Amino acid sequence: MKRFGLDIWGDDNFIIKNDTININYGMKPSVLEITNSVRQKGYMGPILLRFPHLIKKQIDTLFATFESAKKEFKYSGNFYAVFPLKVNQFPNFVNELVDVSSEYTYGLEAGSKAELIIAISKTKIGSPITVNGFKDKEMIALCFIAAKMGHNITITIEGIGELETIIQVNEEFNKKVKKPIVPKIGVRIRLHSSGTGIWAKSGGFSSKFGLTSTELLEAYEMLKKHNLLEHLWMIHFHIGSQMGEIAALKKALRESGNIYAELKKRGVESLKAINIGGGLAVEYSQHQNLQDRNYSLKEFANDVIYLMQEISKSKNVPAPDIFTESGRYIAASHGVLVAPVLELFSQEYHEKSLRLKEQNPPLIQELYDIYSAMRKSNAREYLHDALDHMESLLTLFDLGYIDLEDRSNTEILVNLLIKRAIALLKDEDTSELKRIEDRIQEKYLVNFSVFQSLPDWWGLKQNFPIVPLSKLDTKPTNPASIWDITCDSDGEINFEPKSPLFLHDIDVDEEEYFLGFFLSGAYQEVLGMKHNLFTHPTEAVIKFDAKGHYYIENLIEAQNLMDVLDDLDYDTSEMDKSLKQKIEDSKLLSNDEKREILGKLYLYLSENSYLKTIQALDQNYTP
Ligand SMILES: *Cc1c(COP(=O)(O)O)cnc(C)c1O
Repeated sequence: MKRFGLDIWGDDNFIIKNDTININYGMKPSVLEITNSVRQKGYMGPILLRFPHLIKKQIDTLFATFESAKKEFKYSGNFYAVFPLKVNQFPNFVNELVDVSSEYTYGLEAGSKAELIIAISKTKIGSPITVNGFKDKEMIALCFIAAKMGHNITITIEGIGELETIIQVNEEFNKKVKKPIVPKIGVRIRLHSSGTGIWAKSGGFSSKFGLTSTELLEAYEMLKKHNLLEHLWMIHFHIGSQMGEIAALKKALRESGNIYAELKKRGVESLKAINIGGGLAVEYSQHQNLQDRNYSLKEFANDVIYLMQEISKSKNVPAPDIFTESGRYIAASHGVLVAPVLELFSQEYHEKSLRLKEQNPPLIQELYDIYSAMRKSNAREYLHDALDHMESLLTLFDLGYIDLEDRSNTEILVNLLIKRAIALLKDEDTSELKRIEDRIQEKYLVNFSVFQSLPDWWGLKQNFPIVPLSKLDTKPTNPASIWDITCDSDGEINFEPKSPLFLHDIDVDEEEYFLGFFLSGAYQEVLGMKHNLFTHPTEAVIKFDAKGHYYIENLIEAQNLMDVLDDLDYDTSEMDKSLKQKIEDSKLLSNDEKREILGKLYLYLSENSYLKTIQALDQNYTP
């Protein structure tokens, strides 16, 4: 894995400069430097860094690429986009998104009432709002209210039942008014074609959403009957997220394009738009042979425009406006989670930890001798001998012939031997070596929660690029697995021989070592769960001034302990009282001690669940 795969997933957003990974923007600060300036303000634990310039870059690129495809094919329809809020609803993201997209007709997509409220309040009048997902009467009524504010809002009908509700709400809202105002109406169509990959459940015939051809005809008749046909203006599909292969999209485009043309031919004058949903994939892979997608944005845009052009021409209908609802593509790169490494588990496998005796069992002496004598020429042979001796020594221990110190020496020596052999044989890419790497992987204990910050790794084994923030001028040699600080054995990113991660050998007592988890800006935050009550990490927005210097905005600290409990609906004031009372009543403490303990307790209560490094403890807690 060269340069941690940066050339595959990095999209020129980051560069490696000397020994650090840096932002490829402004004065190109290192992520480490930014991290340290947040930590200097007293924020420890994991930190989520947000980079609005990367949100802007994605939106700029999306619009520029579609505009250029339109030009190339002389396409007469318009291009618009909305951001699907389910991908990231956090205010520090949404506010920046709205801000950086202000020059475009770029709006928000909502899939629930709470998201709809965000969309209605944050979208500027005129920019599109689309409303998908299952809806009840209240949600549809909210859409009517938005339309009456002047919003350009489209309700997507997911099923016939919703259409009945729209008709009913329309009567309530518009019966007595002179100029009825009705939201635009879209229909989600149920496609034969579906996407591929782990998220491909949104499209296809067995999809949870959308109208079949029969229902579509039924909807057409119902709209006509209730004088609402003039509001039907969009058809919509979404074939699933992280679409790996373009073929699925092309099929869906042909299918939906023909449905559009058929409805046009049926005289639906107002129908003007096709909404192609999301699904535009992000390249998360750090390994050349394991890439996530087989197309570029340019190919994607060209296919959309070309196919819609073809279908409209051949059916002799005007070309539709195109809407996209890409979310992952827009949001993923803006978020970088930085987390400190707390410990390397096999740090004890060090020469200085050996407890060799005057008289060692002969096999241990031999292990020591081959460790000292190992060279490149004999490394393979000695490695086999070492593994053999280890088996024998462990059996001797089980049978009671050697003691605990001998066993510890065995573990240390074999570990050192394997490490040395791997270093010596590094250029030989043999499967045996790979198997051995798997065996001696170093476990890095990292101050974060996989469940909270990378839930898609936990639930779907979605990879996120992992890069250390320092030492990038030295080749990392430890096959690494990453352990989070939850008490759950699933909170691990295991070493995978097919896509190995190597990290540096470091002594965390001597130096800090941070890992960056990149492309974590889409889906992870709201999906994240408070397993073990580790909450959303401290977050900060990183912006650049006119001179290219970065500055930190909107720092939000991870919730403190009592707020977390309050969220679970504990009566925290009662708990507070109880804690205080127990110290007051303690028969083990003097009054002075009580006061001191109480002070400490309140200090701890004001902090969050994540661990603090020893240095941090020293700084904060000395009186
Ligand atoms: C989830 C969703 C999207 C966003 O998909 P991405 O893969 O993140 O681009 C768009 N439209 C609808 C209807 C969705 O449900």
